[in-house]
Amino acid sequence: MSYAHRIEGDRPIKLSEFDSTEDAGLRHEEAIQRTDRIVAELAELQELMSASRQRSLLVILQGRDTSGKDGTIRHVAGALNSQSCSVASFKQPTEEEMAHDFLWRIHAETPAKGQIKIFNRSQYEDVLVVRVHDLVPKHVWRERYDQINAFERLLTDSDTTVLKFYLHISKQEQKRRLLERERNPMKSWKLSAGDWKDRELWDEYTAAYEDVLNRCSTASAPWFIVPADKKWFRNLAIAEILLESLKPFRQGWIDRVEEIGRRERIAIEEYKRSRENS
Ligand code: AMP
Ligand code: MG
Repeated sequence: MSYAHRIEGDRPIKLSEFDSTEDAGLRHEEAIQRTDRIVAELAELQELMSASRQRSLLVILQGRDTSGKDGTIRHVAGALNSQSCSVASFKQPTEEEMAHDFLWRIHAETPAKGQIKIFNRSQYEDVLVVRVHDLVPKHVWRERYDQINAFERLLTDSDTTVLKFYLHISKQEQKRRLLERERNPMKSWKLSAGDWKDRELWDEYTAAYEDVLNRCSTASAPWFIVPADKKWFRNLAIAEILLESLKPFRQGWIDRVEEIGRRERIAIEEYKRSRENS
């Protein structure tokens, strides 16, 4: 059972069909305990994944301002080993990045074998903010859905698991969070006037997100809509999907790690024997 909604691509979806306040009837405490257990198991799998170096995991987080991208990283990725898990945040492109194709900076950050990478924003900004703010002509961004699908296909064909999460918050919840950030001097640094401006473009972003979800959710690189008004439910839903996606590889990784260990022990034995004989 999954707490988030996987977009199958069998029919076009509308965001208004999805309830951002969903919590599967769980209590706050119960959800936190479950998340802790899942994340601990995820950390064990991460060790196996890292030692066996056969696959990588790319997690893409997208969502409107205040939807909880940073919070998800803190709570879910925070417990993972930073030797094999890192975050890449994509902001407004630099001059150098602008001088290349839009996937150039993205490809440079994809995870190597054994690694987990979390994208805080991603290639999808190039069909979201770029589209909503008219930063390139329509004929340019229109081509990008296919270009993104082809790019992600390359990653998944190269043994990367790609999971994409849209953190779904309501307009009211966003207002509440923006006002809370304004009131809290320790949180205000995250704000920008652009957040309020983007809020006026709520419907335009909705249309842009719907196109992303409908055009770029594939069997090998699916999109999930995560009910995100409740932060603890959001964390649980994402952690659970990460765990379920990696679990099928567990035995293969154990076999590989044992094989590497066996080879090393044989090499050590041979070395010791050669020392005895000399
Ligand atoms: P934040 O995530 O709050 O640190 O803000 C990063 C900002 O960079 C957001 O407003 C994004 O929309 C913007 N951004 C990210 N990628 C792009 C892009 N490819 N083109 C234009 N703006 C972008
Ligand atoms: Mg921002």
